[in-house]
Amino acid sequence: MNEGNLPLIRRLEEEHSLPSEDYERLLAGRDEETARLLAEQAVRLRQEIYGNSVYIRGLIEISNICRNDCLYCGIRRSNTRCRRYRLTPSQILACAEEGYGLGFRTFVLQGGEDAWFTDTRLCSLIREIKARWPDCAVTLSLGERSFESFRRLKEAGADRYLLRHETASPEHYARLHPPEMSFENRMRCLEDLRELGYQVGCGFMTGSPFQTVANLAEDLKFIERFRPDMCGIGPFIPHRDTPFRNEPAGTVDLTCYLLSIIRLIVPPVLLPATTALGTIHPLGRERGIQAGANVVMPNLSPVSVRKKYELYDNKICTGAESAQNVSDLNRRMRSAGCEIVTDRGDVKMV
Ligand code: SAH
Repeated sequence: MNEGNLPLIRRLEEEHSLPSEDYERLLAGRDEETARLLAEQAVRLRQEIYGNSVYIRGLIEISNICRNDCLYCGIRRSNTRCRRYRLTPSQILACAEEGYGLGFRTFVLQGGEDAWFTDTRLCSLIREIKARWPDCAVTLSLGERSFESFRRLKEAGADRYLLRHETASPEHYARLHPPEMSFENRMRCLEDLRELGYQVGCGFMTGSPFQTVANLAEDLKFIERFRPDMCGIGPFIPHRDTPFRNEPAGTVDLTCYLLSIIRLIVPPVLLPATTALGTIHPLGRERGIQAGANVVMPNLSPVSVRKKYELYDNKICTGAESAQNVSDLNRRMRSAGCEIVTDRGDVKMV
């Protein structure tokens, strides 16, 4: 093992924090043995707090219509080859109904920034879900909105909000997004969500174009400071109809390494083994769980739209990642020493 790493791991275990330069050293000095040790400590912490439970979230991809033009994303507005769709509220409710029967107690409504989903429409949808399934949590992942909008959605009953910060470096942010999008506004949204009492998720892609070890260290410092309730980490995967079509994808190894480090920084964080991780490797999600993740988000969207919500090439959507296949998913989780539970799976404050 890289000699200098052991004291870094020990310090991270004790203080849940490292100076930026030490994160950089730990990332630059990544080797198999260090990854194994980090994963062992991450799994130990996860077991102490959550046992061997893996929480499942039913992901409903409500629309691929988006006003934004993120350079990495397959549903960006300039992608004219993308076939657009929007689910109706009754289709969304039907997904939740099916999901409830399959054991899901959290529904994640995710989508592009589609203006059709006004506060009024979303609030009535959230109220309806909460009225019909009061034992379920509603998570939103609908991009940037105003404080007032976040407030109304919370008042209607939304419990959680996922908004990846994408990168904690303003310069890196500017290389991944068009000029009209702003790092400051994304961060403002995260602060607003926190202030309003949501359980908040941030996150970033591993191996995104132009990402440096120093950028990743900034992401880790941001996570230390922000202490998210949830954190979505997945590999960047190129999409053929975006400016990043020829960029290399992120790797399972780097993603798992970061999952373990994040578990050590914020022990109670809810960490998904993402669909992107399952897409770049057939056992990607199992590897994520073995690195310290404790959430999976199977797809509950109608089969007819799954292919169209294509953020990146070859997104998996018909096997174990489909909500209809919870038993296969559970077999996979058991192979990684865990067990799927029927539970809202709220963050456990420690
Ligand atoms: N529009 C919403 C949510 C949908 S996108 C929002 O802005 O939050 C969900 C996440 O998918 C993004 O935050 C991004 O980190 C990830 N993503 C987008 N394109 C990707 C790609 N090419 N490879 C991997 N992940 C990608």
